Amino acid sequence: MIKLVILDRDGTINADSDEFIKSPQEWQPLPGALEAIAKINHAGWHVAIASNQSGLGRGLFDVASLNAMHAKLHKLLSAHGGRVDAIFYCPHTPDDNCSCRKPLPGLFEQIGERFGVDLKGVPVVGDGLRDLQAGAAVGCEPHLVLTGKGAEFRGRTLPDTFPAGTRVHQDLAAFADWLVSRPPPRPAS
Ligand SMILES: [Mg+2]
Ligand SMILES: [Zn+2]
Repeated sequence: MIKLVILDRDGTINADSDEFIKSPQEWQPLPGALEAIAKINHAGWHVAIASNQSGLGRGLFDVASLNAMHAKLHKLLSAHGGRVDAIFYCPHTPDDNCSCRKPLPGLFEQIGERFGVDLKGVPVVGDGLRDLQAGAAVGCEPHLVLTGKGAEFRGRTLPDTFPAGTRVHQDLAAFADWLVSRPPPRPAS
């Protein structure tokens, strides 16, 4: 079975904004984030992204702009020797009552189908509660980064609304260091 990690996008890989990220110019990677994805890849992991992009449904940008942001992501990442296999996004607004907007797990289910993997134990990394709730709903292993919206939890104990066993990392680079140095799971006996 392939090794897969699922990442949130805004606030986890790139700088987030309350005004939404609407263009490739506004899409700016966080320090060390692209290097972190490359490190994860080089340790044998595939990476998929699951991202709420309600700015689409709100009419703040169009799919062509989103594709251009992701072309920038792929290009900058490949310059660092890294690769994201797939980007799954929810284009809806909260009022659409869809099943793919995190904290609902629809994007994760799509990823599981695309990769043909059971998501149980698959690491999910995000800067917000709803990222980890969506992952936990399908059995993913939750990791919070303290970048983006996660900055509010620096130096604090996490509220117990977070899924049990949530691990906290300063940023994506710290998560990557943790992941690649983790001993492999013991074979089931
Ligand atoms: Mg985020
Ligand atoms: Zn949706």
